[in-house]
Amino acid sequence: MKAKGLPRSVAELRARVGKVTMRGGDEVARARRMLDVYLETAATHGLAVEDVAREIKSGLPALRIGGAELTAQTDSAPVRLAACAPGCAFCCILAGDEGAVILEAEARRLHEALVPLAGAPDGRAWHSRACPALDPETRMCRAYDARPMICRTYVSPDAEACRQISEGTPAAGPGVLGAQRTYLTVQALGRAGLQGAVTVPTYALARIAAAAVEGRDLAAALREARHKPRTLEDERARLTGAATD
Ligand code: SF4
Ligand code: SF4
Repeated sequence: MKAKGLPRSVAELRARVGKVTMRGGDEVARARRMLDVYLETAATHGLAVEDVAREIKSGLPALRIGGAELTAQTDSAPVRLAACAPGCAFCCILAGDEGAVILEAEARRLHEALVPLAGAPDGRAWHSRACPALDPETRMCRAYDARPMICRTYVSPDAEACRQISEGTPAAGPGVLGAQRTYLTVQALGRAGLQGAVTVPTYALARIAAAAVEGRDLAAALREARHKPRTLEDERARLTGAATD
């Protein structure tokens, strides 16, 4: 049975996404075009709208589209000039109340990667606000292959600027690649297209990681880490002022 309010087909979902109004100008237009291609492909392959809605809820279109853009940015100036190196982890000190915004598929993957490490000393033994996925001795990410988009897109030409930011002092240099904003905008558009039918939450990276290393199961982790609905839009607005490209 279809969820109440769900579009009757992928074509209808495409039409809804096409009509979503959202702040963000050209960036929204670009993200909308890419999500439209994704939905067109899903329709061509005969996917049911319920399956596509599930994919959007988990964040798969956003991760695929943002991931492709990130790959294309591998040779960009911010990446070439980055001072990022193994063991440099000021960016893993998570400022703000939201604990970094991630999508459901990322939350599941991160939790799965960290559960085997439950009980071991975690990043908070190095710094009280460090990500629990961090190794407190080596300051390397213990969930590197499962790290979310925000960890893959944040770069800096100067580690000292990152240190200052981690202490609450503004500094120029660090920022996210455009792929991060694309991924969040695709997710926001997909969520708006499903409004009234499917709830599409975001989650706090830090809380998912904490729940995993403290031995709590996935259901509890998702419950504890779930953001308020407006967090996604707040994060999009925040990143517009923190872009590095
Ligand atoms: S973003 Fe900053 S703290 Fe993180 S690895 Fe790069 S230079 Fe180091
Ligand atoms: S998941 Fe890994 S890379 Fe991302 S903030 Fe946590 S320790 Fe750092």
